[in-house]
Amino acid sequence: MKKLFIRIRSLLKLFLLLSTAILIIISIFAIVFKPIYSVTLNGEHIGYCKDKVKLQNRINDYMENGDESTYNKNLAFISIDNMPSYKMCLLKRGITTNDDEIFKEIVKDGVSYYKYYAIVDDDDEKVYVSTFEKAEKVIKELKNKESNNIKDLSIIEKYETKLKKFTNVDKAVSKLYERKPIVRVASSSSYSSRGSVATGRHMSSSKINLGISLSRPISGRISSRFGAMSRIRSGAHTGLDISAPYGTRIKAAAAGRVVFAGYKGAYGNMIAIDHGKGVMTYYAHCSSLKASVGTYVSQGTVIAAVGSTGNSTGNHLHLEVRVNGVAYNPQNYLY
Ligand SMILES: [Zn+2]
Repeated sequence: MKKLFIRIRSLLKLFLLLSTAILIIISIFAIVFKPIYSVTLNGEHIGYCKDKVKLQNRINDYMENGDESTYNKNLAFISIDNMPSYKMCLLKRGITTNDDEIFKEIVKDGVSYYKYYAIVDDDDEKVYVSTFEKAEKVIKELKNKESNNIKDLSIIEKYETKLKKFTNVDKAVSKLYERKPIVRVASSSSYSSRGSVATGRHMSSSKINLGISLSRPISGRISSRFGAMSRIRSGAHTGLDISAPYGTRIKAAAAGRVVFAGYKGAYGNMIAIDHGKGVMTYYAHCSSLKASVGTYVSQGTVIAAVGSTGNSTGNHLHLEVRVNGVAYNPQNYLY
């Protein structure tokens, strides 16, 4: 019995000794031979990298900040479609790593996006400036000078792959300034046949208190949300699209006075209702209009019918909520 015990003990000792030795050998290997990574891009092997974390950080930093060639040029970010994949290989012999070349290979197809601001006059991009502050300054100065087009001017943020030529504040002001017509237009109580509305691209995603509650003009499926980008539009979506069959009756979202009823370019046939305190709702792409400028409508009054007039690819209602000309997200109040 005692013999057996001694035997087991010595076996255990041997086992411990062996495993310690193996552990030490493994650690020495790990210290001497650091793991390296085989790098593939689009399924193609492009080299071996010594430090995967460092390389990936360098790529990420480049995408965020660019390099000397993009410095101070309104770079927003650099988009790289294809990211490398790394595969660890241990103890490969006779391999040379080329992190620098791998980096160059990966970033060479990067696309730079620049961020800047356009001042638009009724959807026409007139001048480009490098910062929002400059754009605001231009608008402010034009306001002070009572430029005739001030209601149609708005600022849009641009993310483009091509950098535009920037205009400085003074030049932008003189380029955009429009003298007020000498002949005074009729008093505000008489509207023209179509009325006038601001349709610039100045928009805000914040949820502000409108002071009134809106009801659904139609029921239907939402086909494009506020802020969405699309190929048929020049910028972000200033309204909410609700698709519905041709001729569906559109009801006023709240009581107010019709201040526009007619055809307005990309909007097609459109109704605009002024609810007071700067709050307006627009109903665009209509097939027919059933309210005229100057009339008061109550909430739920049928004002138009769904269609696809203007810049539209199918029957839908384009609904906008504007406060002092700035477009807000209708879904903060409806649907
Ligand atoms: Zn729309």
